[in-house]
Parts: sequence; C-alpha cells; structure tokens
Amino acid sequence: MPEEKEERKYERVLVVSAHPDDPEFGFGATVAKLTNDGADVRYVIVTDGSQGGEDPSVPDEELTATRYEEQRAAARVLGVTDVVFLGFKDGHLVADIPLRKAITREIRHHRPDLVLTHAPVRMLGVGIGASHPDHLAVGEATLCAVYPDARNPRAYRELLSEGLEPHKVKEVWLPIFGEADHFIDATLLMDRKIEAILQHKSQFDKPDMPADAPAKWIRERAKLVGEKAGFEYAEGFKRLETA
Ligand SMILES: [Zn+2]
Repeated sequence: MPEEKEERKYERVLVVSAHPDDPEFGFGATVAKLTNDGADVRYVIVTDGSQGGEDPSVPDEELTATRYEEQRAAARVLGVTDVVFLGFKDGHLVADIPLRKAITREIRHHRPDLVLTHAPVRMLGVGIGASHPDHLAVGEATLCAVYPDARNPRAYRELLSEGLEPHKVKEVWLPIFGEADHFIDATLLMDRKIEAILQHKSQFDKPDMPADAPAKWIRERAKLVGEKAGFEYAEGFKRLETA
C-alpha cells in the first residue's frame, strides 16, 4: 500500500461549503480522517439550502430547518465540533464583497490552519453538476477571504472592533478531480462517509431513486479517485500553500 507523503497534523480546520450536504459529498472521508487525527473541524455552510428540493410547494423555512437538522446530524457522524449557518439565499450566491466579508469574519473567528472549500473553477471534463454556481462563488469568495482579506488588517476594519484580528490560513484544499495532487486514503472511512451522507434524507427522497443508489454512486466515484492515488478508495485535492 502506498504511503501518504509528509503526514502533517492540523489543529484547526474550517470547511466552507455552499450547501448542507456539500462537505459530506465532497470530502466526508477526509473530514473523518482529520477528526480521527485530533483536529478541531468546524463547518461554515453559506446558504440556507432552500433550493435543494423537488417540491415547490414546501415553504423555504421548512426546507431550511430540515436541511440544517440533517447537516448537524451528518457533522456529528464525522466528529465535527461546530456548524455555523450563514443563511445566504440558496442559488443566489456571487463572490461579492458581502460574501467575502462574511467568510473573512468566520476565518478570523475560528482561526484555522487549513481551509477546505469548493474549487472556484468550472470543470468542463465532468458532469455539469460538479460546477454549481454557488460552489464556484463560495470557492472564489473563500480564496479571496484567505488571501488577502482575512490577513489584511486594513480589510473590513469594522471587524477589528468585533475583536476579530487578522489571521493567516496556512493551507487550502480544493476537491478538483483533474488537478488533484494530494490524496486521502478513504478505504477504511467509506462506511462512515456514506452514513454521514445518508443523514441528508431530504436529498434522497425521490420516487425514482433506489435506496442503495447514493452509496453505490459514492463508492464508484471514490474508486475512480483511488485508481489515480493507488488506494482502493480515495478523495483528491489540489493543495495550495497560502501562508
Ligand atoms: Zn452544493
């Protein structure tokens, strides 16, 4: 079995995702590995998840409440310490100054060494579902918050009066299939990842979806990444040094 190169330890990890369920789908096994290794992993979920359903008659608030509860349950399965919901409207995100500022506030508050977020680039070689516009916006706004906003004492100076001092994130990991250069062995963590994903019950409540479909699909995808990495199952990232 191949060895993971330079096994680094991370004390504080912040996951910044667009929707409830993105962390588990994107890199649930990695979150489990980080918490197993003793990291304090926290989530920031940017939108209210109110567009993640098939039934237009369900009120937004009702769907949001369900999805927040599902997200908390999934986070518990993976050992995540805290989940913060920013409540931006699902489907409406752009990487603008209010979004950058909101994410900067969270980075300065939680002070992570490592940030995991969406890749800010449209992926043309895989299905269009991999490039949800909210994901692109969160990826871009988070990278802008990592550099320069969170570390720049002159950015959003009102944050200083909230006691939020500048903070330099050391690394960012972006789940991007084609350019991945850092792989996490997910082989022993797949059951936990799938258990976490299945907490998002509202997302699988579709008459044409067989009960075992999500687990099958998740394993297929992780196997594909595993083939590149030399593991049975893996999750892959582009790792950016940002210190
Ligand atoms: Zn999403």
